[in-house]
Amino acid sequence: MRPNFFSGGTLDRASTLRRDEGRLATLLRESASRLFPVWRSHSLVKDDAVVGLPHDELTHLLEEGETPIFLGLQNGDACFACDISHHELETIPRLTKAGDFADIRQIGGQLSQADGALLAFARAMVHWHRMHRFCGVCGKPTLPAEGGHVRRCTNPDCKHDIYPRTDPAVIMLVSAGDHCLLGRQAIWTPGMFSTLAGFVEPGETPEEAVAREVMEETGITVTGVRYHSSQPWPFPGSLMIGFYAEAKKATPRIDTHELEAADWFSRDEIRNFAGKGMSLPRPISIARRLIEDWLAEG
Ligand SMILES: [Zn+2]
Repeated sequence: MRPNFFSGGTLDRASTLRRDEGRLATLLRESASRLFPVWRSHSLVKDDAVVGLPHDELTHLLEEGETPIFLGLQNGDACFACDISHHELETIPRLTKAGDFADIRQIGGQLSQADGALLAFARAMVHWHRMHRFCGVCGKPTLPAEGGHVRRCTNPDCKHDIYPRTDPAVIMLVSAGDHCLLGRQAIWTPGMFSTLAGFVEPGETPEEAVAREVMEETGITVTGVRYHSSQPWPFPGSLMIGFYAEAKKATPRIDTHELEAADWFSRDEIRNFAGKGMSLPRPISIARRLIEDWLAEG
């Protein structure tokens, strides 16, 4: 099965190096090492490829106390991510000459699978650092440790360690014979329909979350929940866990807090979406993958 976009990268995360401060400092300064800047959730790209820079072009742009985040080794060369969000683009002309800062959610499909996976990792890590600058136990500032894979409380009486988090979310294609259930949120592009989705709550399995979300959003009972595939979704820090489920073709009772519309569509209707001014989600999304794989089954 082909990997979903934002996964299937070629990076060796080399996690044992994260605690080797001396080795990481040496790697950072090696000429073949590359640093990938993230500016306000945008990544540096040129000609549909990721742009990595040597450390002396980037490390001086980090905020005080912050360090480059060690992502791993690619073909033996070290890769780091750097958050430079506190700068205005006009003040970093060397970087803006090297490429354009682009949102990988918008341009993902133009990147290679490996670049997509690398930048998804970098973006998610940078976001996690930004959101954990203070200790949840004592409220004092935190600083990065272990190659950026820990944030440690600076209060010597606390020293609480925080680890990167991923939020599990379920996304599911519910079918009834030759029809499937798709919905849309009011904020989406007009005419776009997609699979239902929602976050896994504490104290439930992903399969239970599938049944609960479909019931809450449409009033429909599902059976036969089965795993399809998953996808890192760094917007900002989710893991999308994809499922197929079955249901009887009952009229949806929409929760208008979540959805603007939901309906059953046949395979032929979905294949003819474009002719009706309707659309499916982006090709890089697992939602699109779930729909296309289901279309191919019938
Ligand atoms: Zn603390």
